Amino acid sequence: MSKTFVFKFGGASVKDAASIKNVSKILLNRLRNQTVIVVSAMGKTTNALEDLIDKKIKGEDFSPNSTILKKYHLDICHDLFDPNHSIFSQIENYFLQLLRDLEKPLTKENYDPYYDQVIAYGELISSRILQEYLCQMGIYCIWQDVREIIRTNSDFRFAKVDWETTALKTKKNLRPILDKFPVVTQGFIGRDKKGNTTTLGREGSDFTAAILGSCLKSASVTIWKDVEGVLNADPKRFSNTVKFEELDYKEAAELTYYGASVIHPKTIKPLANLSIPLFVRSFNQPEKSGTIIHKVSTPNTVPCIVVKDEQILVSFKVTDFTFINEGHIHSIYSELEKLKLRVNLLQTSAISVSIVIDKQIYKLENLIEKLGKEFEIRYNDSLQLITVKNHNPILMKDLMQDREILMEQLTRTTFQMVFKP
Ligand code: ASP
Ligand code: MG
Repeated sequence: MSKTFVFKFGGASVKDAASIKNVSKILLNRLRNQTVIVVSAMGKTTNALEDLIDKKIKGEDFSPNSTILKKYHLDICHDLFDPNHSIFSQIENYFLQLLRDLEKPLTKENYDPYYDQVIAYGELISSRILQEYLCQMGIYCIWQDVREIIRTNSDFRFAKVDWETTALKTKKNLRPILDKFPVVTQGFIGRDKKGNTTTLGREGSDFTAAILGSCLKSASVTIWKDVEGVLNADPKRFSNTVKFEELDYKEAAELTYYGASVIHPKTIKPLANLSIPLFVRSFNQPEKSGTIIHKVSTPNTVPCIVVKDEQILVSFKVTDFTFINEGHIHSIYSELEKLKLRVNLLQTSAISVSIVIDKQIYKLENLIEKLGKEFEIRYNDSLQLITVKNHNPILMKDLMQDREILMEQLTRTTFQMVFKP
């Protein structure tokens, strides 16, 4: 059995016609039969689809937004294809289905499955456009609905992969095609046992690439990004960033845990387990080597800074003159677990527990509703969380300057602070 390769192209790499042409140029010299191309929704399409759902919740008319989104895709296609190419009717069809789905009733209870059903169109459409364009450029490849391969549970919006079924489906449905042709497929989406569309969490297409890479035991997985590779900080926020030539799996996983958005947090583990190297490379400078994430024996000492926006600091204070004990922490964590909310920072004192979480629609309200009887709850929102790995005094002083810090934590290697930006 020959070795496979997995390439992932994110939304920014297919955001307009010129970008899609660039992707096809990258692929032209690199494509072998056994390659899977995983693609995200084009540009900011996922956000635009979220806006449609938002409008629907508010009872506003979503059809103008849907028309704009359709026009965005059609305009790109006009630059890429002949006017009578079948892609145009395919896109019309997807948008008809999308509108039909949006007409269905949406309640607080079915929000998550509804979201997944609607949001999946971004990837379905982008993968179609890319596959048709590659074929037109003479790179013959097959379009595959990834939902036929990736089986998940029914945790809509944060679905967990059923690895066993996914591996079986990869073997049965994907492998035979890959032996003949490259395959273009969607990131981010999957399907549960009942046939419902699920999603793996925002920015989940990287994870899709890792899932397929792992199930195929591929030679490597490459994520094509708009940055040169993995940097020690976001170049849009900090100057003098350093690019890593290589990074250990563990180190990379830790940075993604703190919120480094260069790779989705779940991407590393399945690849590390099988020692599959992960390349992060620039689609703007494809000749450059990027970063390789693999097993590295010398630990990195370069300071890394990770910023997370839209954070909420929630404090739970006991009201009955007792002190915080395991029971309190247990009840807070079990509600968080039910709401699928992850704690980004935790601190306890004699009478209170403070946590930092991401902002997510309905979740904070739910949390307060569930725990409001047991605790006096206060929160601050619209905060920023900065994590520094391998901190040093000068850097910390610099970062803390002029900031109203609401909570901070320091360990030997890691410093975290949450503040009003
Ligand atoms: N399109 C999805 C998102 O924007 C998934 C991805 O891009 O990885 O979150
Ligand atoms: Mg994206």
